[in-house]
Amino acid sequence: MKKTEIICHCCGKTIIQADYLHIEKDWGYFSGGKDGERHEIDLCESCYDRWVRTFKYPPTVTERTELL
Ligand SMILES: [Zn+2]
Repeated sequence: MKKTEIICHCCGKTIIQADYLHIEKDWGYFSGGKDGERHEIDLCESCYDRWVRTFKYPPTVTERTELL
């Protein structure tokens, strides 16, 4: 398993915990000027927590019984 250093795009710190948020978005046509672009974001857990608190609606949470 190869591990490259992951930097949080929000706070700029190296993400050391194994669990973090990774978002990949391929913008399609009719997006506002991002046609055909792929955007990737890595966020550490504390930035994720801070970010979702700015949402009008919190993330949809589902309990998972089996954790790897
Ligand atoms: Zn961060």
